[in-house]
Amino acid sequence: MKYISTRGKAPELEFDDVMLAGLARDGGLYISKSWPRISGEEMRSWRGMPYWELATRVMLPFMGGRIDEADFADIVKDTYSGFDHAAVTPLIQLDEKLFVMELFHGPTLAFKDVAMQLLGRLYDYVLKKRGQRVTIVGATSGDTGSAALEAFKNRECVDIVILHPKGRTSEVQRRQMTTIKADNVHNIALEGTFDDCQDMVKAMFADTNFRDSINLSAVNSINWARIMAQVVYYFHAGLALGAPDRPLNFAVPTGNFGNIYAGYVARRMGVPIEKLVCGSNSNDILHRFFSTGAMDVETVVPTLSPSMDIQISSNHERLLFSLLERDGEKLTDAMTRFRSTGHMEVPAGALDRAQAIFASHRSDDAATLATMREVYRRSGWLIDPHTAVGVAAARAVTLDPSTVTVAFGCAHPAKFPDAVEKATGVRPGLPPRLADLYEREEVYTTLPNNLAVVQEFIRSSVVAPGAAA
Ligand SMILES: *Cc1c(COP(=O)(O)O)cnc(C)c1O
Repeated sequence: MKYISTRGKAPELEFDDVMLAGLARDGGLYISKSWPRISGEEMRSWRGMPYWELATRVMLPFMGGRIDEADFADIVKDTYSGFDHAAVTPLIQLDEKLFVMELFHGPTLAFKDVAMQLLGRLYDYVLKKRGQRVTIVGATSGDTGSAALEAFKNRECVDIVILHPKGRTSEVQRRQMTTIKADNVHNIALEGTFDDCQDMVKAMFADTNFRDSINLSAVNSINWARIMAQVVYYFHAGLALGAPDRPLNFAVPTGNFGNIYAGYVARRMGVPIEKLVCGSNSNDILHRFFSTGAMDVETVVPTLSPSMDIQISSNHERLLFSLLERDGEKLTDAMTRFRSTGHMEVPAGALDRAQAIFASHRSDDAATLATMREVYRRSGWLIDPHTAVGVAAARAVTLDPSTVTVAFGCAHPAKFPDAVEKATGVRPGLPPRLADLYEREEVYTTLPNNLAVVQEFIRSSVVAPGAAA
């Protein structure tokens, strides 16, 4: 299995190189050259497997022989044994036709752990084999930072530096990052906004000397290995509900389009998915795209589901690549136009192909609260605002009435206690693993919004590449 860039001008790479590279050198995103196809017979033989074993089967074709099979199975088993629920991603039934798959039983209580926990282990495995070290640098407005820190803390071959905007994350989110104690973990509270943090990270990557001196790497949501790990739970839900013999739909609250794109991959691999329903909050550029075929950037508005407060969804480029029949030049044209004018549209044929698979719906904050309230009233279940956007979408769009739908539970309700309390009157408590979060000691360094100062701090904090771990 080889990987190609959506922009068509970067070298083909193997799995391990794609994982460490993140973004392709031509600015594109890596994507597998073909889709592994799982036959109905093989899929049936996977029914009832424990999560880790199913995950190994689903992901193995993407390794292209670059990671030893037995080692990979061990890594995957170790990854998911650290989750709080024995089923890893359990299904809850909300009504006759609607299920929620809870993806938040990992260490930071959001679905990003499912992929990130695997990534941390795979990075260490590959780097150890190569005798290399990297420094991961990232900016976060909330969830991604803690998922990355939890996944990479105490890894032998990695230092990790996460910048958050000082005073601008929720207290739960900040504490989930700053109370992690490990020699290779470095939290920076930047005196600035989230955009300042992101610009700072971009500037560090653009500084070739700095980048090479500490082997900079990124694990943001465009990393192929994260998408791959998210494909697994589409199989897990499908098999539990009768796949390959019964079709199903998925409803996915969407921000950067990584989670729902994994559903597109699962469908190409043979999971009988009728519709992928894209749930948007008031930042509804994707809903408008699936309705009209045009993308127009607007300013980001803050909502109750902050992990989806995004206008430019980076992984959407991977879908566009397929909709444009894998034509790297056409895609480059479209993306260049989009970046410079904030507008882009696809030809009618491409919109038809998209609408055959995707449906979409937008929920503003009032609709999100109403959904949380209604779910609580009818089933006694508390859901977080992101999950509610998905549930609302599942209920709003027209789907075949004989087909079941799985909405993704993307975060634990206790991560967003204010919104949950506002909707239901019930304040959710933190689960046992985080019960003492407010008592733990915080460690972070406050730095000014100044590139040279931040670079000097990082250089003096990390172990130099090549040095013994
Ligand atoms: C990241 C995140 C999302 C958005 O997922 P994408 O893969 O970026 O579309 C939705 N909900 C929660 C809770 C998240 O952390």
